[in-house]
This record gives sequence, structure tokens and C-alpha cells, in this order.
Amino acid sequence: MQELLLLLLPVAAASGWLAARRSARKEKGECVGETGPVYFRGLNHLLNEEPDKAIDAFVEMLEVDSDTVETHLALGNLFRRRGEVERAIRIHQNLIARPALTREQRAQALLELGQDYMRAGLFDRAENLFRELKDTKLHVRAALKNLLTIYEKERDWQASLEVADQLESLTGERMVLQKSHYHCELALAAKAQGRVSEAQVQLKKALGVDRGCVRANHLQAQFAAVQGDYRGAIRILKQTVEEDADYLPEVLPEMLVNYRHLGELQELRGYLQEISAAQPGAGAELALAELLKEVEGESAAAVYLAAQLARKPSLTLLLRSIEMNARMPESQSVNFLDSLRPHIRRLLDQQPMYQCGHCGFSAKMLHWQCPSCRRWSTIKRKAGCEAEL
Ligand SMILES: [Zn+2]
Repeated sequence: MQELLLLLLPVAAASGWLAARRSARKEKGECVGETGPVYFRGLNHLLNEEPDKAIDAFVEMLEVDSDTVETHLALGNLFRRRGEVERAIRIHQNLIARPALTREQRAQALLELGQDYMRAGLFDRAENLFRELKDTKLHVRAALKNLLTIYEKERDWQASLEVADQLESLTGERMVLQKSHYHCELALAAKAQGRVSEAQVQLKKALGVDRGCVRANHLQAQFAAVQGDYRGAIRILKQTVEEDADYLPEVLPEMLVNYRHLGELQELRGYLQEISAAQPGAGAELALAELLKEVEGESAAAVYLAAQLARKPSLTLLLRSIEMNARMPESQSVNFLDSLRPHIRRLLDQQPMYQCGHCGFSAKMLHWQCPSCRRWSTIKRKAGCEAEL
């Protein structure tokens, strides 16, 4: 607040002086009061420690003309950035109401006011302004980007698509990711309303925009499974994982269900072995352990889990192993728990014990200065990582 006043005080004084000078010029040398009563009212508020009223008084005395439009824009922008959106809105509305603005100045003021409305959460008003701005053919890119943000927030995917198309042709940059997701959203909405064939059309469009769209592929697989085409669903899910292996844990549960519907447990086993070799730790090991328990019994599953733990220990594998152990006879149990010890040790060794409270940087040892954000004494031991005595 204080720095704002320091900025406003000279600006307001200068504006008063400019106005005085202009009217003095008009009246050919006749001396007019240099700074008006509003300025002194502002100063008075300031002296009475009423900075809010002082700011309003100074803003009020800033005359809008070609010399001060930039000042108004800068002030409004400043207010918005400081979170004082109401003031920013007042300044920008005041600007727009002036007929003397040039086309460019008016467009700039529209853009600013639109951003004020966005900040205030008044999306309807912001939308109208950005549409108007778009029609002026000035700041079209900014208007479209803001419209896109509004339509995404309102989940109006059809409108989002239209704006994305306009942005693409304006900037020449493709918006493949966004557009494929808009089509997926439209597909889900259609499906929720029972319009299955329209949903299919939207999914095809999503894949037409982005052949490798994981979400669209996943949805297609779900649609196929619902219609009883488990083979087709499996084929699509496999493709999805081939396109982007990071999504394996997302699609694995459905893969299992589809194989079980087909009754192809042997084929499932082969597939799980294949992906656990290619992607250890993505969940195939647990699924395979469950399958082994079903087909060959609990001890085969336990042996398999122990081997996987030795290969790549993880908390989920450990938990599953302990659960299986709970049903073992006591004689085996002690040995089993003993065999888990090195795996737990390895898991602990892999965990970073220290973390920067400022930037989140993880470390295995105490650094007095964070190597990432360079702050001092921000790195401390993480909760749950007790000191070993
Ligand atoms: Zn840091």
C-alpha cells in the first residue's frame, strides 16, 4: 500500500499540473489553481493514515486524456497484480467509457478489463469482453487464449474446440493435445447421456487429431469391452501401452479383467511375464503373483514374489509378501521374515532422507546450503527417517 501511494502521489500531482497547464494555455496565460482540491483531499487522507481513501482520491483526479491513458493502464494493471481487482475494474471501466480513446487504446483497455474480470471470477463478463476484443481484430491472440481458459473452466468443449481451431490458424501452432482431450471430453459427455454412436464419433475424431492419444485409445478399449469385444479391447490396450509405457499401471487392471472374461489365463501369464521383464515395478509382478496363487498355489506365488523382491524391491511387493506370510505355518514364518530384511534395507538405502523445506530438493545427506535453491539451513531430515544409533 505504501509504495503504491509513493507512486500515485507524484503521478496525481503531475496530472493536476498538466490539467492546470492545459487550461492555463487555453485561457492564454490566466493563472489557474495548480493542484485541485481533490489532490489536497487525497493528501489529507494520507496524513490521517487513510491510505485507501487517499488512493481513491488520487485515482479520481487522474484525468483521462491522451497523455494519461498509459498511466491509467499501468495503474489498473498494478492494482490487479496486487489483488485489488475492484479498483482495477473501476479504472479500466472508466477508461473504456471515454469516447476520446484511439482504437488501439480502447482494445488495450478491453484486454485489461477482461483480465480483471477473469481475476475476479466474473467469467461471463470476461467472455463478452474478449469476444468484443476479438471482433476489433486487435489483440486477437490474447483474446482467444483467454476465451480458451474460460471455456475450459466452464467445460464447454465444443466452444473450446472452435477457439483452438481459430488459434491454430492464427498462430500456425498445432494444438494436438488439447484438441484430442476436448474430443475425449465430448465422447464421455455423449456416453453419459447414452448417445453411444456420437461418443464413438468423438473418439475417432480424437484419434484423427492425435493418433497416439492414450486417453482416446483407453476409452475405445472400454467401449469395446462393454460391447463384449474383449479381444478387441486387449488389442487396443496393448497398443496404448506400446505408444506410452508410462500408462501401463492405468490400463493393467482392465487388461486382467478382459483376459479373465476370455478365460485365457495361460495367455495372460505370458503377457504378464513379458511386461514385467520389460517394465519392472509397473504392477505386472503383483498381478502375476495373484495368477500363480490361483493356478499353482500360494507357495509358488511366495517363491515368485521373493525372487521379484530380490530383483527390484518395492513397498507393494513387500506388503504382499508379508500378507502371504501371515498364512504360513510358524516354522516357515521366522525364516521368511528374516529373508525380507535385506530387501527392506535396500529400500531404505534408496530413499532420500533429507529434503529442502523451501524447494523440495531431496538428498541423501545433510547439505547446509540447498544445491537447488541455494538457501541456507533449509534442508532437514524428512519425517519418518529416524537417525540410526
Ligand atoms: Zn532448496
